[in-house]
Parts: sequence; structure tokens; C-alpha cells
Amino acid sequence: MAQKAFASSADLDEKERTLEVLADGVYALTAEGDPNVGAVEGEDFVVCFEALATPVVAREWLAMLRQHTDKPVRYLVLSHYHAVRVLGASAFDADVIVAHENTRALVAERGAEDWESEFGRMPRLAKGADSVPGLTWPTLTFSDRLTIDLGGDRGDLVLDYCGRGHTEGDLVAWLPQHKILFAGDLVEAEAALYTGDAFHREWASSTLDRVAAYGAEQLVGGRGGVTKGRSAVGAAIDQTREFLTVMIREVGAVHEAGGTLKDAFDRAHAALEPGYGHWPIFEHCLPFDVSRLWDELSGVDRPVIWTAERDREVWDRLQD
Ligand SMILES: [Zn+2]
Repeated sequence: MAQKAFASSADLDEKERTLEVLADGVYALTAEGDPNVGAVEGEDFVVCFEALATPVVAREWLAMLRQHTDKPVRYLVLSHYHAVRVLGASAFDADVIVAHENTRALVAERGAEDWESEFGRMPRLAKGADSVPGLTWPTLTFSDRLTIDLGGDRGDLVLDYCGRGHTEGDLVAWLPQHKILFAGDLVEAEAALYTGDAFHREWASSTLDRVAAYGAEQLVGGRGGVTKGRSAVGAAIDQTREFLTVMIREVGAVHEAGGTLKDAFDRAHAALEPGYGHWPIFEHCLPFDVSRLWDELSGVDRPVIWTAERDREVWDRLQD
């Protein structure tokens, strides 16, 4: 059998991007399973949500946004530290770059390694990689909640920390006036979960409980289309939780029985593939996902740093 290409290194077809207006001054750009971004207009400024992987790619998104508003970007909000979400930041010329305090610490601790790892796993996203001027440093951080007054009668944009999940420092952005939630990678809509830096058991329980408690009527997840309507939003959150729950059950069973990481991978793959195998990046993510969950179940509290070298080692170990 031909060897499976590493991660998404052979997936080079450009995805179609769609800008949707979710409410007056609220925008989402989705991309068929590639990372989503958003923007919210204030009275005399714009808040952008997520920065994409490079300034070159971010400028393409800004050109689409500029067809709707020419207000300056005051805030760039980053949902978490992953390179494909943050390294395009310089294109926004934002006054303030906002993130959770754990995200800032993670950039310092492992931002450089993550940059190399992610661009190697998914070269398609890293168009114009040379345009990245360096790591992205948040200039405003918080621990529980930060509220941005949008001015006029536009209400607030509320940034909340819902607990550990996809990473140690995910935030969500909530617009109470429109009941719209930008959930970052805590929720994916029909795209596979990347959990290589995750805290599976907290994510699947208390963190997603908090995400569900907003009662959002529209949800923009980290990947996949915009989810519209209370029941569809509930279904997207449930699917995310189910993916985690199946992983925890299957990998947990092998772990408890004294099996190997490879056994756990094969068992998780067999359990998830029928329902989730056709979703974007399923094959790419699963080796890294199972590896991290195995560590978590072994008592390794914080995710081991992924490097380009460790990526290949884990991939080769689980794909033969
Ligand atoms: Zn991520």
C-alpha cells in the first residue's frame, strides 16, 4: 500500500472562501474546512477575529471585508495561539491584539516550534510564508472576561474564557445583541477536531457546557460553515463533544488494558472513521490527537511541544 502523505502536505487545492453577513456589521469568512475568520463593526472601528496564517492570506480576507466597511481595525482578537490563526496579524495594523493570558504564555513557550510544525503539516495555508515578520504577541490579555463596547447602539462584544479545551487558552467572542458566537476551535462544524494540544476531558465536559450555555442562534466555529438556528448550533456542539467522547472511550479502553499507542490509534480510527472520516483533515489530525490523549490519560498534564521532528516521528509510528 502506498504510504499516506504526511498530515496535509499533499492537500494543495485552494478552497473556496465565502464571506457571509450574519447581522448588521457582523461578518464571517468560511473556507470549506480551512480556518474561519470573522469581523464585527463598532461605531467607528472594526474588531477582527483571527488573523490567518500569513499576512499575504490575511490581506486577501481584508480586501473582501473592505467591500463592506473601511473602518480601521482597532482590535484583533486571537482565539488561541496556533500559527495558522495568528501569524497573519501584521496585515491588520490593529491598535490592540487581544488574547487570553495563557495564549500569550504559550506563544512565549512554544510559538516558534508551533510555527514550524504547522507550516510543515499544512503548507497550503502558509501562502506567502516569507511575509510573516515574526511571532505574534498579544498586547492586551485577560483571565476570565473582557468586554468591548462597540459604541452607538451596537452593544458589547464579550470575550470569555470557558476553560481548557482545544488549547490551554481558548477564548470565545459573544455578541449578546445578535446571539452570535465565534467559538474558535472549541467547536468545529463538520470538520475533524485537532486535539494535539487539547485537554480532552475538560473540553468534552465543563468547557463545552459553557459554550452551549450561551444559547447562540448563529455559531462560527474554527472550521466548517456557519451554523444557523438553535438546533443546528446544538448539533455542532454535540458533534464536537461526541468526537471527543468516542476518542476518550476508545483510547481509554486500550490505555486501561495496557495496550500500545498504535493499538489505541487503530481502535480510535476504526470507531471514528465511519462517522467522521469524510470530514476535512480527519486523517491529518488523528495521529496527533490520539498521541496527546494518550499522554493526558498517562498523567501528562500539559501537552508536549510539537516540533517538526516529533510530528514526523508520531506520524510514522502510527501510519505503518
Ligand atoms: Zn487550533
